Order: sequence, then structure tokens, then C-alpha cells
Amino acid sequence: MNYSDYFNPEVETMSEDRLKALQLERLQKTVHHCMNSPFYQKKFQELGITPEDIKTLDDVQKLPFTSKEDLRENYPFGLACVPMKDCVRLHSSSGTTGNPTVVLHTQKDLDEWANAVARCLWMVGSRPEDVFQNSAGYGMFTAGLGFQYGAEKVGMLTVPAAAGNTIRQIKFIKDFGTTVLHAIPSYASRIYEVMKEEGIDPRKDTKLRVLCIGAEPHSEEQRQRIEQNLGVKAYNSYGISEMMGPGVAFECQEQNGLHIWEDYFIVEIIDPVTLKPVPDGQLGELVLTTINREAMPLLRYRTRDLTRILPGECPCGRHHRRLARLQGRSDDMMILKGVNIFPIQIEKILLGFKELNTDYLITLETVDSNDIMTIDVELNQMFTDDYNRLKSLEREITRQLKDEILITPRVRLIPKGSLVVSDEKKAVRVKDLRKLF
Ligand code: ADP
Ligand code: ZN
Repeated sequence: MNYSDYFNPEVETMSEDRLKALQLERLQKTVHHCMNSPFYQKKFQELGITPEDIKTLDDVQKLPFTSKEDLRENYPFGLACVPMKDCVRLHSSSGTTGNPTVVLHTQKDLDEWANAVARCLWMVGSRPEDVFQNSAGYGMFTAGLGFQYGAEKVGMLTVPAAAGNTIRQIKFIKDFGTTVLHAIPSYASRIYEVMKEEGIDPRKDTKLRVLCIGAEPHSEEQRQRIEQNLGVKAYNSYGISEMMGPGVAFECQEQNGLHIWEDYFIVEIIDPVTLKPVPDGQLGELVLTTINREAMPLLRYRTRDLTRILPGECPCGRHHRRLARLQGRSDDMMILKGVNIFPIQIEKILLGFKELNTDYLITLETVDSNDIMTIDVELNQMFTDDYNRLKSLEREITRQLKDEILITPRVRLIPKGSLVVSDEKKAVRVKDLRKLF
């Protein structure tokens, strides 16, 4: 790799030891800074600790956890560690799982955030010559402004298209020669579908080269489908508003896990029940401590996202460790007949069938005191309406699903366009009707 392959060569290729030293220095500074907030003063008192107790990186485990509940209980500004006059921006999470939470930023926080996103975009090969189009919602959703500022920092011509109005979106891609696109995966699939309807061949009629996809769980199969359909390389982008938004972890061109920027975060993977660290490489809940934030540092924030740390070095030369593809949130996990199932496991099987479209809905309900799972999945337009072929396809999908999730779902193949998908919101993959009774 050359120096020019990195946006921040010094930090990105910093040795593990130097990175750890930097982390400790920033962690110590952060815990002292946290004492500006009554919220953290109280938490530290309850645990009988002071900032001086943080002498090594492992001491992070002495610190209190924080969670979405803390943010909700102290809504809106209860976790601020600087005077409000120093804050210049407020964002909130999408509210996918309940009331939104508020995150405050100083100007320095925004600069650092833009720097992290720029690093990610550079890492996947974006350069000032590129045209970057952001098809994520602007406003409170962090993926809008988050990518905007990062892309500008790279020096690209940016098109703040925002989400929705897909025909116009495609017109921009063509007219402005967009080469790098950011969209959530369900919307990237939608853009392709509309291109097909409009008779546009993305490989011939557009200059699209790189796609950044994230903000919602998606399988490797989904990524490959997007790559094949649009003729691009698609990179997984992990963001969470409480940490800042996009730019937290991103795949490099090796596409083998997401580098998490360890000069911004201390990473822990814990068992969500015992709250103890899981052995290296095991699946658990991602817990992050911000070590580069002024307005609202978060200590040991429980993301509820499940992942694991991938072992080994990445050939790209970055020593920041890699997270495995995010499985989904702990609250996305469905428990059916005692079996734990993630929607992404189902998606993986469905997208192995080229006859199927990328939209699906899993419904859980109780019938005669039995929990049953129904999967409605859209067919591709191209596919046959030959009844026998459809039935045998249904049987084969059901068989493969049973192998993966250990229970037998009811699979319904439905015409393309039957499911309602939002252009602007994260896709809803599960409807649990059991909770109604
Ligand atoms: P909300 O929690 O209300 O959806 P955010 O917009 O902050 O608010 O979304 C962050 C969440 O989105 C993460 O905690 C995670 O569950 C999900 N997410 C973000 N990026 C990815 C990704 N690349 N893969 C899987 N899930 C993701
Ligand atoms: Zn890498």
C-alpha cells in the first residue's frame, strides 16, 4: 500500500502499541471530562470510583455502562459535558426501537466526525475526482449530514439528493455522472428495481463504481446481489447516532469485516446477560466508549448490536481491528419454539434464490397456541407463473430455511411490488403479532 491509499496515513497505519497508548491517553482525558456532568458524577459515586482509577486500558471495565435508557431518562440534554453555548448541532437516532435519543456536538466533534467519514470514503477508493451522491435522509437522521460533511472533506463533488423520489435520484446519477453512492441496502435495491423499470442499464448508462451501504442489517448475499445488479463494489458501513452516526466502522477494499476506528472508540464485546467480556472472537454485544468527543462522551455504551471481533491482521495495513458483519440488534432476535433466529439468517437463504426479489416480510403469530412463522417473499418479475414450478420452488426454499433456522416456516411467494417498502425509512422485516395478545 502507498501513503496515498490512506486519508490519515499516520493514524490508520499506526502500530497496535501506539494505538493503545493513544487510547489510554484519550480515555483518561475523557473520564476527567465526564466529571463536568452530574449524570457521570452520580454514576462514578455509585460505583465508588474516580477518574484516577483509570490507569490501564483494561480499567475501562471499572467504568459504568451507559444505555439508550440513560439517554431517554435524561432526555434531552442531561448527558452534556460542556456548556450548551459550546454545542453547535443536535442529532437524534432514527427511533427504530422507541423514542429517539438526542446527541449533542461541538464544532470539534463535527470536525472529527467528518474526518472519520472521510477516512472511510477514502478507504473504499473515493477521491476528489469522484461525484458522491447521498441517498440517505437528511435532517435528524445522521446518515444525511454525516456523509455530506465526510464526502466534502474528501473533496468530492457532492450531491445531497436525500432519500426518496427514485426517478429523480436516478436522473441525478445519470446527469451528474455519480460514481460513489450512499444508500441504505433496501433503498439501493429499490433504485435498481426502478432503473430496470425505466429501461436503464446501470453498467452502461451510469458511471456508478462504489456503493456504501449500511444503517440496517443485511446479509453477504444481499451485498452480492446489489453488486451484481448495479455493477459496483458495495461496502458495509456501520453507524450509530449515539456514537456520532456513520463513520464508526467501515469495510476496506478487502471486504473482510469492518475496521472500527480505535482512535475514536474503545471496543468491548460482552455477554449481554452476564455483562462480562466474551472470549476473543465470540459473538456478543458491541460496547463502545467514545474517546474523542467533547459535547457528550459516552462511556461503555451498550449498542445492543451483536457482532464479534475478527482475528488476524488485514492486508490493507490498517491495525484498527475488524468487526464481523453486524448480525442485528439483540432486540431483532426472534425466539420461536425456543430457537433463536435473526432475520439476516432468513435473508441469506432467500437471496440465494435468483428467482426471488430482495423484499420479504417475516410474520410471527400464534395459531391454536402454536407459534408459527410465515415468510412472504417477492418473486422477480422475470420469473414464471407456472404453478408447479412455483410450488417446487417454495418447497426448496422451505427446506433450506429449515436447515438454517431449525424450524419449518410457511413460505409464500408473492408478486413483485406486493410488499410496501418505504423509500425513506429503514426496512421493516419482521411483524410479530404474538405480542398483541
Ligand atoms: P436507531 O437505533 O433508531 O435505528 P440509528 O439511526 O442511530 O438509530 O441506527 C443505528 C443502528 O442501525 C445500529 O445500532 C444498528 O442496529 C443499525 N445499523 C447501522 N449500520 C448497520 C450495518 N452496517 N449493519 C447492520 N446494522 C446496522
Ligand atoms: Zn483492511
